[in-house]
Amino acid sequence: MVDLKRQYEKIQDEVDNAVLDVIRSTKYINGPEVKKFQEELEEYLDVKHVIPCANGTDALQVALMSLDLKPGDEVITTSFTFVATAEVISLLGLTPVLIDVHEDTFNMNPMEICKAITVRTKAIMPVHLFGQCANMDEIMTIAKNHKLHVIEDNAQAIGADYIYSKSRSKKAGTIGHVGCTSFFPSKNLGCYGDGGAIFTNNKKLADKIRSIVNHGMTVRYYHDHVGVNSRLDSIQAAILRIKLKYLDKYTKARRDAADYYDNGFKDNENLIIPARSSFSTHVFHQYTLKTRNIDRDKLQEYLMSKDIPAMIYYPVPLHMQKAYQSFRYNQKEGDLPITEDLSKSVISLPMHTELDKEQQDYIISNVLDFVNKNSS
Ligand SMILES: *Cc1c(COP(=O)(O)O)cnc(C)c1O
Repeated sequence: MVDLKRQYEKIQDEVDNAVLDVIRSTKYINGPEVKKFQEELEEYLDVKHVIPCANGTDALQVALMSLDLKPGDEVITTSFTFVATAEVISLLGLTPVLIDVHEDTFNMNPMEICKAITVRTKAIMPVHLFGQCANMDEIMTIAKNHKLHVIEDNAQAIGADYIYSKSRSKKAGTIGHVGCTSFFPSKNLGCYGDGGAIFTNNKKLADKIRSIVNHGMTVRYYHDHVGVNSRLDSIQAAILRIKLKYLDKYTKARRDAADYYDNGFKDNENLIIPARSSFSTHVFHQYTLKTRNIDRDKLQEYLMSKDIPAMIYYPVPLHMQKAYQSFRYNQKEGDLPITEDLSKSVISLPMHTELDKEQQDYIISNVLDFVNKNSS
């Protein structure tokens, strides 16, 4: 699905030198590279505070921990996402309320938020799925009217722009009260291990988050909060500083690859190419087709047999996962029809910064071959 090797080879000298420098410096934890990366990411995102942490799941958990929520409080998120989003809500004794998505963008449907709000609702966690922002304008309006916190799960959309108008945009993850991202290797801004970050423009929240990731300390050995240990290590920060410089170039490579796929598939009535929102650019963390009138699982098997990796994100919606059955407000099968339909019909094709036309032609022709022979 991704070609991290070819990507690394293009920046090998830069990366190798930076990693060696950190090793020689012996400043492995909270070294200067971490601080520099933090500042560079603040500038790139145009956000006041970036707090690096150990991974994207921790980022989400710490963001929730910073909001003074109480057990039983409800947090609205979508059922069509990676499990981490709902997992951290549950771990903290909060109740995940899983709602349905738009059938075209796969992102949270704001109308469904309104239906899900109760007196216990305290926060909304939109996920910018596959590289495109949820409708933050509407989400922020609802949040304001109901006094709710908004935590953006931006693990898949770093670098995307949320567009207010021709002259005004903001980076994904900087619109809600807190934004979270992951630097897992296959993410759009990936390091060579685990990493994550939390963003906010609110100084008070930033101070608290900085304390929580460091065992709840503000002054050494004085603990004001129950915290965790969640750090980005200096080697990963050094690698991320290099990759951040190339992020916009990487995004362009993904967009070009997506355009090329679109062109190959757009005339096929049994394949629906990814929708592009008017209010968000798309950074194509995934290139995900919706299929019609074909056996999607057989298509995946067929592609695998042709050495084409293809993945199903996500085959089982969260409200139908075993671990999430016991929550009082959790829905059952049948309750979120769009999410359930998507989990049966979507397929994601290889998408990364190193795809070339020859590879894409091979993928496109194999997909079309199968679809044309097997549509019912
Ligand atoms: C990857 C991902 C996460 C978790 O990130 P990790 O760094 O793997 O913990 C959370 N949410 C979404 C939507 C993701 O894609």
